[in-house]
Amino acid sequence: MAGAELIGQEEIREVVGVLESGILARYGFDAERKGIYKVRAFEEAFARYCGAGYAQAVSSGSAALKVALTALDVGPGDEVIVPAFTFLATYEAVLEVGAIPVMADIDGTLNLDPAEIERKKTPRTKAVIPVHMCGSGAHIDRIVETARRNGLLVLEDNAQGCGASFRGKKLGTFGDMGIFSFDHYKTITTGEGGMVLTNDRNLHLRAEWYHDHGHDHLGADRALDGRTILGFNYRMNEIQGAIGLVQLRKLDELIAAQQRNKREIKEMLSGIPGVGFRELVDPEGDSATFLAFNLPEEVLAERFQKALAEQGVGTVCFKRNFWHYVPNWEHFLARSTANSRKHPYSHPANNGAVAYDRSAIPRAEDILGRTLVMGLAVRMPPERMDKIRGALEQAARVL
Ligand SMILES: *Cc1c(COP(=O)(O)O)cnc(C)c1O
Repeated sequence: MAGAELIGQEEIREVVGVLESGILARYGFDAERKGIYKVRAFEEAFARYCGAGYAQAVSSGSAALKVALTALDVGPGDEVIVPAFTFLATYEAVLEVGAIPVMADIDGTLNLDPAEIERKKTPRTKAVIPVHMCGSGAHIDRIVETARRNGLLVLEDNAQGCGASFRGKKLGTFGDMGIFSFDHYKTITTGEGGMVLTNDRNLHLRAEWYHDHGHDHLGADRALDGRTILGFNYRMNEIQGAIGLVQLRKLDELIAAQQRNKREIKEMLSGIPGVGFRELVDPEGDSATFLAFNLPEEVLAERFQKALAEQGVGTVCFKRNFWHYVPNWEHFLARSTANSRKHPYSHPANNGAVAYDRSAIPRAEDILGRTLVMGLAVRMPPERMDKIRGALEQAARVL
């Protein structure tokens, strides 16, 4: 639960400060707000922390995906390559902008296999969305290199990997754009919220305009703003911005604590014959929100998971999970968009013949079925660790 575990006096003080200012909106009220601009300060601090040129705060990670895809001008007639293992929002965002998501397989990192880009590419492909699932990175260097060679845009969905890095560079800054989520379950939280990063000024401006009805935020007040494109409202508010600022200050310590906890549990697991681990592209850059380990066969993983659960230790097998694996989304597979004419599948610019069969993702079918994922916390006191140790020892007997 990471950031949510650490909500305390600092967040409370910041929120009270915003309420006392009387201004909850991030834009406007310049005379009344006494110089307090929390969302703007959060954006600046976040861009600096990640080493990105520009940051645009938005109302959620899902909104961030839609804003970024819109800024990148992805729309009807375009295909976007997305890994089979991700949260549903990544696929929904592609549909939201009128494009078609194309499902791709994963590799030992549990993230997008770079080799899939050239296999899944068609003349319609415009972009690739690598997702850094469960806090650990994809082969982002190879993904960006392959995408560039094929003339494709890269949008990193780093909703789950805030603070993680690859060779010293923060995830979310490798592609043309990168997004983050600050919902309650993510590495740091603002309750709901998201961020869009880019180094490209033009993409940043398009994201800024689109997320606020086209306002360019250059007027003396909002009524005097200029506008070029239409947009919508995906704004973050000042209370969220204030909480984000405090949470960001806690991020490095939070990750260090999770890394210590992960190391300790990995140590326990490594004594069990047959147990393997998820490939970590850069263990030092791991945000360590989760620990993913595998067994040689799916039946063994299932048995092990059940034995752990009986001892009070929960794990997730994402092949059987309801929300993070494409073959399990019956409403998505039925093309049940909220529109009765099934937009965007029915759009004349789109090719309706897209398939989401399990046979197209053999690696995910194999490895996700054998993999168990344990959520880590910042605070895992010795009693909790002892409980996990005992449960692992018990569970090892069923293998
Ligand atoms: C959580 C999540 C999102 C969506 O973020 P929200 O803030 O919940 O809208 C998108 N992608 C992934 C991979 C996520 O885990």
